[in-house]
Amino acid sequence: MKLYFPYLKRYTCLATCLLFAIVEMAAQDLYPKNEAVDVQDYIFNLTLNDENNVIIGEAQINVAFKDKVDTLVLDLIGKSQKYGMEITTVLEGDKVANYSFSKNKIHILPSESKENTRTFKVFYEGIPERGLVISTTKFGQRSFFGDNWPNLARHWLPSVDHPYDKATIEFRITAPEDYDVVATGEKLEESNLGNGFKLTTYKEPAPVAMKVVTIGVTKFASKLLDVVHGIPVTAWVYPENRLEGFSDYNVASKVLDYFIENIGPYSYAKLANMQAKTQWGGLENAGTIAYFENSVTGKNTVEALIAHEIAHQWFGNSATEASWNHVWLSEGFATYFSILYLEHVYGDEKRKDELALDRKQIIDYYKQNPSPIVDLTIKDPMRVLSINSYQKGGWVLNMLRHKLGDDLFWKGIRHYYGTFRNSNALTDDFRKAMEEVSGEQLEPFFQQWLFTKGHPEIKWDWSYEKGKVRIDLEQIQKHHPFDFPLEIGIVQDDELKIMKVTVNKKSEVFEFALEARPDNIVLDPNYWLLFEEKI
Ligand SMILES: [Zn+2]
Repeated sequence: MKLYFPYLKRYTCLATCLLFAIVEMAAQDLYPKNEAVDVQDYIFNLTLNDENNVIIGEAQINVAFKDKVDTLVLDLIGKSQKYGMEITTVLEGDKVANYSFSKNKIHILPSESKENTRTFKVFYEGIPERGLVISTTKFGQRSFFGDNWPNLARHWLPSVDHPYDKATIEFRITAPEDYDVVATGEKLEESNLGNGFKLTTYKEPAPVAMKVVTIGVTKFASKLLDVVHGIPVTAWVYPENRLEGFSDYNVASKVLDYFIENIGPYSYAKLANMQAKTQWGGLENAGTIAYFENSVTGKNTVEALIAHEIAHQWFGNSATEASWNHVWLSEGFATYFSILYLEHVYGDEKRKDELALDRKQIIDYYKQNPSPIVDLTIKDPMRVLSINSYQKGGWVLNMLRHKLGDDLFWKGIRHYYGTFRNSNALTDDFRKAMEEVSGEQLEPFFQQWLFTKGHPEIKWDWSYEKGKVRIDLEQIQKHHPFDFPLEIGIVQDDELKIMKVTVNKKSEVFEFALEARPDNIVLDPNYWLLFEEKI
């Protein structure tokens, strides 16, 4: 997702001290979570038209109250001058509800009753400033695209607009009859209403976060590309891009198969790949991925982007970060699983190439932004995307894979996904899942790479004397020394021999017996350590 242009490697984005695990438990983003309230499902009836950009909405929201019936608070951006929503009615069941609407929050006070499950309806209308992008495609065709990430759903959908509360969702879209409608979920109905409008209904039975629900309404060409493990894979592209789009998005079925085979079951009703107006390079909406308009070239230039967005269906969408500060569980995973897919298709050299580019970005970024991956000082979800959450998060998974070995790494990944599928997790949950499978104590690894800033900055030299190679190695970063396994490559007669050592001090010397002087020595020839080589 998101400002992710792999061919540009990749994007610009906003992006101290040791932070201990205990802080992780206490501090999170600032969204006021109410654990007593659990939204079960949303049904959004939306009417769109061609005369103006007003949307008319009716949201039906089923809520389970856990212990006691409490105030239901929903996010919705209220009208201010031209944009925003006005509420006409709120119902509880079929009775007018007791509610207030101010500061972009709807507070609904449920009636006295012992019933723990309630249904509310919010009737509203207005022009959304963001979230639902009402515009024209690059070919001049009028279009409506949902573009919610991270918290823009509240501009057009009354909801608990934070990923900690996921719910099933149904869209019932009434739109001028010449449009094609795609949305999160399985298509249930497409009916001409006889008044120039058409009703199209989609329902997603798996719980989804509002950040990744969407609709796409314009003139589309669409095609069933494949059915993979029972999941229909489709392409929805502008009619002017029909053949190129079908060709570019065709690789999605191969990617889907790889992830299902290696991670676990796919969670959603379908996998639609949609050319779209989006502020991002790609947006991993659950089962209905949006790719930027110029992703379609007919030259298969976005395979890595497609792999990244499809990887999100497991990580971010199904196993979802419970707090924005842990967004690396989404972006770092999508970054690395895209690399794993590319490695699977193109070989290990491709993994190294990708990681080399990412390492350079991480090092450059750190000089301007010395902060840890899980940065609890960030309060605004728009600021959690950075080289840290994407590239460095991906690198941490690469190092974890090396530490555990391929077999345990994949077992742990499957265990983590199996445990948190259709649910929420924090970094500690991922650590515990990997510990359960590997039997290793991973706290120091997670502490060092995720909750502490920086990386080893290594100054080193080698010499050969009297049948021995001597390597002098120094960690020169200003803060504490890192603890890591290091592979040392000894090059002799075009052959690479790997010696493995553990480094955990500021300054260390390693010696190996060797019959003849080597041609060269390289640190970490196989790209398993995130470090900066200092001369
Ligand atoms: Zn992403």
